[in-house]
Amino acid sequence: MFKFACNPSRPAIRRGVAGFLLVCAGFSSRIAAPAPADWFPDPPTLRHYVWRYQPCLTCETSAVPPAWLRMAELAGLQTLRIFHSSDETFGPAYSAAPDVIVLTPSALKLQACQLAFVVGHEIVHIAQRHFDEDANALSVFSGMPGNWTERGEDAMQLSEGNFGLALRVSHLWQAQEQEADWIGALLSAQASGCSIESGALAYLRQEIEAGGGVAAAHAPSMERIRQLLPFADSAKRLVELEPR
Ligand SMILES: [Zn+2]
Repeated sequence: MFKFACNPSRPAIRRGVAGFLLVCAGFSSRIAAPAPADWFPDPPTLRHYVWRYQPCLTCETSAVPPAWLRMAELAGLQTLRIFHSSDETFGPAYSAAPDVIVLTPSALKLQACQLAFVVGHEIVHIAQRHFDEDANALSVFSGMPGNWTERGEDAMQLSEGNFGLALRVSHLWQAQEQEADWIGALLSAQASGCSIESGALAYLRQEIEAGGGVAAAHAPSMERIRQLLPFADSAKRLVELEPR
C-alpha cells in the first residue's frame, strides 16, 4: 500500500516502480459536487505538476463502489479511477498521480472495512497532493530553478540512483504515510462505517501475521497501529455522523 508516480521509464527509489506499458485507458469516475468534510485538511498550496498515468499491461479499469466515491467526495477529489492489476510487485494497493488507485488480488480479498482503509489511505495520498509535494521537494533539494519542468515524472526522476537526495526527503515521505493512515482511517469510518479496529488495525494486524510490511515506504505495522490508536474515538464519532 503505497503511492507512486507512474513513470514508464525508470524505477523510483522509494516506490520501486518498474516499467509500465501504455495499453489501456481508464474511465474516470467524476464526482459531481465534491464536498470535502469540514475536518478534512486543506491540501498544500504548492504548484500543480502535470502527471500522466500509464496503466500497466494487465491493468483493467473497474467501477468505483459508492462508499469509495463517498470517501473521494469527503476528500474533495474531482475524479477517481480504480484499476485492477494482477501484479503484486508493489504491494496490494498503490496510488498514482493524478487520480488513480491500483488494487491487486490480495487487496480485493480483504474484508470490506480493511479494504476501505486501504483505499482511504490511497485517496489521502491523492487528495493531499503528496505527488506534487514530492516533485517539489526533489526539485528544491536538487537546486533546480523554479518551474524547470511542468512534468511531475521529470521531477521524480531526480531521485533515481541518488540516495543522498532520497534521504533528504525521507522525512517528508514518512509524514505523508502517517497522514494517509490517520486520515484514511477517518474517511473509511465516515463513508463506510468502519471502526479503527475493524478497518485499519485489522488490516495492519493481518499484515503482521503475514510476515511484515508491504513496502519500504511504510513504518513497521506495529508502529502504525500505535500511531492510529488515538484516532479510535474520532472514528467512532464519524461512524455515527453518516446516515446509513
Ligand atoms: Zn502510503
